[in-house]
Amino acid sequence: MVQIENEKKSRISFSQRLFWSVFFMFLGFTVCFLLFQYQREKEFARDKLNGVLGNYNYQLFRKCQQGADIGESVCAFLKDIPHKDLRVTIIDPSGKVLFDNSGTEEFNNHNDRSEVREARLRNRGFAIRSSESTGKRYFYSASNIGGYIYRSALPFDPYVKWVLTVNKDFIYFMILMMLIFFFVLSRFTFSIGKTIARLRDFALNVEKDQIPAVDYVFPNDELGDISRNIVTLYHQQQKAKNELSMEREKIIKHFQYSKEGFAMFTSEGREILSNILFIQFMNVISDIRIHQAEEAIEVPDLGPINEFLNKNIRSSNRKRKVMRESVTIDKNGKIFLIECILFLDNSYEISINDISRQEEESRMKRQLTQNVSHELKTPVSSIQGYLETILDNPDLSPEKRQFFLERCYSQSTRLTGLLRDISVLNRLDEASEMFELSEVNITKLVTEIEKECSKEMEEKHITSEVILPGDPTVIGNASLLYSIFRNLYDNAIAYAGENIKITVNCYKEDPKYYYFSFSDNGTGIPEEHINRIFERFYRVDKGRSRKIGGTGLGLSIVKNGVNFHKGQISAKSGPGKGVTFFFTLKKRLR
Ligand code: ADP
Repeated sequence: MVQIENEKKSRISFSQRLFWSVFFMFLGFTVCFLLFQYQREKEFARDKLNGVLGNYNYQLFRKCQQGADIGESVCAFLKDIPHKDLRVTIIDPSGKVLFDNSGTEEFNNHNDRSEVREARLRNRGFAIRSSESTGKRYFYSASNIGGYIYRSALPFDPYVKWVLTVNKDFIYFMILMMLIFFFVLSRFTFSIGKTIARLRDFALNVEKDQIPAVDYVFPNDELGDISRNIVTLYHQQQKAKNELSMEREKIIKHFQYSKEGFAMFTSEGREILSNILFIQFMNVISDIRIHQAEEAIEVPDLGPINEFLNKNIRSSNRKRKVMRESVTIDKNGKIFLIECILFLDNSYEISINDISRQEEESRMKRQLTQNVSHELKTPVSSIQGYLETILDNPDLSPEKRQFFLERCYSQSTRLTGLLRDISVLNRLDEASEMFELSEVNITKLVTEIEKECSKEMEEKHITSEVILPGDPTVIGNASLLYSIFRNLYDNAIAYAGENIKITVNCYKEDPKYYYFSFSDNGTGIPEEHINRIFERFYRVDKGRSRKIGGTGLGLSIVKNGVNFHKGQISAKSGPGKGVTFFFTLKKRLR
């Protein structure tokens, strides 16, 4: 990452690259143009001088035509022209020099002179070279007139050099053009660079998942339009994404509060989302503990669903429709309807519906009123009976009187406990907002309860193991949390038998919930009862429960306490298998 950042820093920006590429292209073009133009100017200067001398050649020819003597004709010609140092030579078709005013006497054949050769070929020729006859350097211009070569030559002196000097105006002009071009190009690339830098800035922010805070202003050109479109598209996409995640959030919430266990998986069986009830119901169904929704498909009871998925996910039938399969499972006193929907992209969802629950709820309501009056009637009528006996028999022995009074006291204690439990349940039903919230350390709470129950546990040779990894802490109601664990401990001690082991385990944790299990390996609860143990006043063994002092409200309080903490509870048991309660508690209620 750091290396990429460094590479980003060290690389040349797009605008700089654009600037230098165009600049070097223009520079190359200018250099070529200057070389070409320099060559042309040079040729132009030579042609000009060649033209002047060529003219002299024709004037000389005409003079020679007019006069009889060549020498006189040349003298007359030289008088008329400004170049007094002009050397003139006349060569006949064989290359013999007929006349030359350089003062040299000896001439060899002149047909091999480059300007003469050229003139014989093209009628005109010029050369800058040293004279083989005089040894001086000349600018020669030769004209072929009727097979005779008339040649004028100027010594290569400062004047000729000046005439042949290239005019440099065009170089200055090109330098000026370069400067203007440099300025315009730098302004242009700077403006493009600014737009691109902003766009890059924007893209980097998007990459880092930071919503760009600045309102990007782009120039009013095509690049600006494209950039603005990109930004607008991004904002639209962001809005759509937010709306979508809100919808997703709603769906997740809906599933969390649903009375149905629900989980969604990818085609490879990886979990996309699941709710608490899914894990809980699966644990009631499964004989081995389930920690992740993904393990559900391995549970033997879900065999038909597994088979259905294997068959249809692997099938190459591309044109298939959304498919569904369902099974009903009767396990641990509950009836579950399990439905699987396989979508077109091979992802699938599994829902678990506790179809025994609805029936349960309506029956519970009907029985509640009946139960309250019945439960209250029993201790009240016992107290009344004992008191009547005492009143009707004034000469009752003090021992007997004491015995009846103690019975009265114990019945009134029972009545108090009953009224306290009813009041807790009523408050949970009607005014749950009255329960105060605070931070409760579950490890501390369970250890405290363990200590409080240690005497009774010792008497019954009961051991207890507490596995609470990560020190779970809940923001909830301390007294309700106490009631949950206390009632479970009390029940295990009261009903599970002797020489048993109690295990409290926080077996899973997600960002919102703790998943607990509370189990004992005692006598267990027969399947036909397990479905009803959370009902108010429901007892498996009425006589035994009463004798022990149970109100039949313990597990109701546990269930309502769990529900108050936005959790769910279910139980699993079988004769001799002990009882396991699975329940969840929300980490923070506020
Ligand atoms: P109670 O006040 O009678 O204890 P609860 O609602 O707490 O009422 O429990 C309901 C019934 O569930 C009890 O009467 C008991 O028969 C049964 N029960 C609860 N916990 C256990 C357990 N750990 N082992 C066996 N039976 C249990």
